[in-house]
Amino acid sequence: MGVSLSKIGIILEQDQQRQVQFQTPEVGLMIWKSQDMVMPLKKGAVYDVIAEAGTIQLWHQSECLHTNTVPAYLMHHEDILVEPSACVRIQNILVGRNFHWQKYISQILPGNFLITNANGFLVWVNELPLEIYLLCVASSEMSPDCPIELVKAQLIAARSWFLAHAENKHPGWDACNDDCCQRYQGLGHITQALWNNVKDIQGLILAYQGKIVDARYSKCCGGRTEASWHIWPQTKEAYLISVWDSDQPLNEQSLQDEQNMQTWVHQAPRCFCNPDMDDAQELIKYLGQVDVPGHYFRWQQSYSAEEFTNLLVKKLPGIAIERVLGITCGERGESGRLKQLRIAYQSPNGLQYIDIAGEYQIRSTLHPSFLYSSAFVVQEQKDAHGILQRITLVGSGWGHGVGMCQMGALGMALQGFSHQAILHHYFPGTDLILLDKLVNRRDK
Ligand SMILES: [Zn+2]
Ligand SMILES: [Zn+2]
Repeated sequence: MGVSLSKIGIILEQDQQRQVQFQTPEVGLMIWKSQDMVMPLKKGAVYDVIAEAGTIQLWHQSECLHTNTVPAYLMHHEDILVEPSACVRIQNILVGRNFHWQKYISQILPGNFLITNANGFLVWVNELPLEIYLLCVASSEMSPDCPIELVKAQLIAARSWFLAHAENKHPGWDACNDDCCQRYQGLGHITQALWNNVKDIQGLILAYQGKIVDARYSKCCGGRTEASWHIWPQTKEAYLISVWDSDQPLNEQSLQDEQNMQTWVHQAPRCFCNPDMDDAQELIKYLGQVDVPGHYFRWQQSYSAEEFTNLLVKKLPGIAIERVLGITCGERGESGRLKQLRIAYQSPNGLQYIDIAGEYQIRSTLHPSFLYSSAFVVQEQKDAHGILQRITLVGSGWGHGVGMCQMGALGMALQGFSHQAILHHYFPGTDLILLDKLVNRRDK
């Protein structure tokens, strides 16, 4: 297998950044390059890149060194090393875009950078060898202290998802650096030991009937994973089905039934992603650096009628909501994730209803930023006159729930399961094979 390059968007137009600061590495020479010039940069020095009137400017110590008409390249003059002292540090990279854990962090990134000016905002694309990118993803998603079998399972899932390329959300590059695609936070956690420990699975992918598996994953299924077609109706892969997140039967009852779901969200089933199955303190040290510690296996989100009305007025502009009257849950997927719900409200013209369709839409509408999952039941508190006073969502899990449950995979690894067992549990019927052995590769 040759060295293939991946192109990852790390600063996007939507981030609306006009100025980005970076620091060159202490080891190795870096250059600033455009069509007509090459400028060597100082080692261990801080520079600013500014988008200005259709150009890209490079600044150092309040002096503009060069003005590029797009694009500009920030490049290593020699080989790319997998070592923090030989990588660029970039300040103010936005992660968790539009989610409740959104924040800016500084990252140490291997590889080269293509920088453009898009409508007055900076766009940075990181170009780096695919295997380095994938290991960064596997270790960004969780901490490097994780059991090695979890890192291997995550690495193979990330490689398969990337090469299956089923989503193609960003034409022109392979993926962005965030949960929209796969979480990539640079070299931060990688050690030489980790790099050595995963050598034996290089090039291994998951395949199903001769095709690379579209290996989706999410943070915590809540006890049962979701079948893909309940979240993305166009996906019908036979391996993206719903499984109990356990090696024992948990419950024979359908979570698509409202009554069963009421019981389920109040239970703490003995499944792989239940944090009480492992030492809770131990678990915290395995969570990735942008994760908020919290109760996402079973959770509650509660609003007074007034708070909830104000939230919906903000989230559903153009709809004249005077007061919310209640929520009716609609159809659910096999993990209990809601696919639709109906909100009753008082409008100037009397009683009205609005339907919210799709897991993503439900999660984004019913929370100021984003709800953990759509696997919840609704509890309404009414006064003596039947007027809604408070609404509480009682739910389970974090994320869409399709494919590998990352917390469950961690639980399995801590219990001694191999990466093969973990992957076969979440992607039933798939095979682990070398990419080179695959008959109908995309690039052939
Ligand atoms: Zn993306
Ligand atoms: Zn799970």
